[in-house]
Amino acid sequence: SLVEYEDFAKMEMSVAGFAPPKPIKTFQQCGFDAQLMAAISKAGYERPTAIQCQALPAALSGRDVLGVAKTGSGKTAAFVLPMLVHIMDQRELDKGSGPIGLILAPTRELAEQIHKETRKFARAYSMRVSAAFGGLSKYEQVKDLKNGCEIAVATPGRMIDLIRMKACTLLRTTYLVLDEADRMFEMGFETQVRSILGQIRPDRQTLLFSATMPRKIQRLVADALTNPVHITVGIEGV
Ligand code: ADP
Ligand code: MG
Repeated sequence: SLVEYEDFAKMEMSVAGFAPPKPIKTFQQCGFDAQLMAAISKAGYERPTAIQCQALPAALSGRDVLGVAKTGSGKTAAFVLPMLVHIMDQRELDKGSGPIGLILAPTRELAEQIHKETRKFARAYSMRVSAAFGGLSKYEQVKDLKNGCEIAVATPGRMIDLIRMKACTLLRTTYLVLDEADRMFEMGFETQVRSILGQIRPDRQTLLFSATMPRKIQRLVADALTNPVHITVGIEGV
């Protein structure tokens, strides 16, 4: 409707892709249960940020998401909250041990931030969030992954090391997030990212976030995402 377009203009947001779902304006509209709503309010989140308004309903409806937004726009909750719902929906069915949700980030610092933010919300369901990035001992990480987890937050290189060490497999993974994809490419992780993609079932749900959209990333988007909802916050490429 007109009102929504006006709101989008105010938020400098645009949405493309086949039949994008209607944006939400409040967390209440997402259909989260009481436990998750409590975790959201405990985190001090009163209302969704611009990217969350569109990415939450898209991801909750099972769509792939391509999000172009700069740092500080609230991307983590945009992919983590739907990930938790996705996992709750299938955890009963599947008694495997590898992560159901996998989040890849380019650096240890970013992975640490995401890990912290994810645990805040995963606590609502007592889900285990494994860390697979530098700075922590590989031995501890192998032990932790072998004990089982629903979510892993990883840098590409360390994830591949841990898979090689048979700490886990990605056979159970059905929700994949590639965060800060442009930096992942700048740092030379394309081969690793593609190798990880090749180990995850192709019917997974995939969300890719990036501040910029260079040609290399467009190619990855074409290869890794299916019919994504394309959300841009701010001006693309800036
Ligand atoms: P990005 O990944 O886009 O850089 P983050 O997900 O790290 O952004 O979020 C940036 C900061 O904003 C974090 O401190 C996060 O806790 C906070 N934040 C995210 N969403 C909301 C919200 N809806 N309300 C209030 N604070 C939020
Ligand atoms: Mg981030």
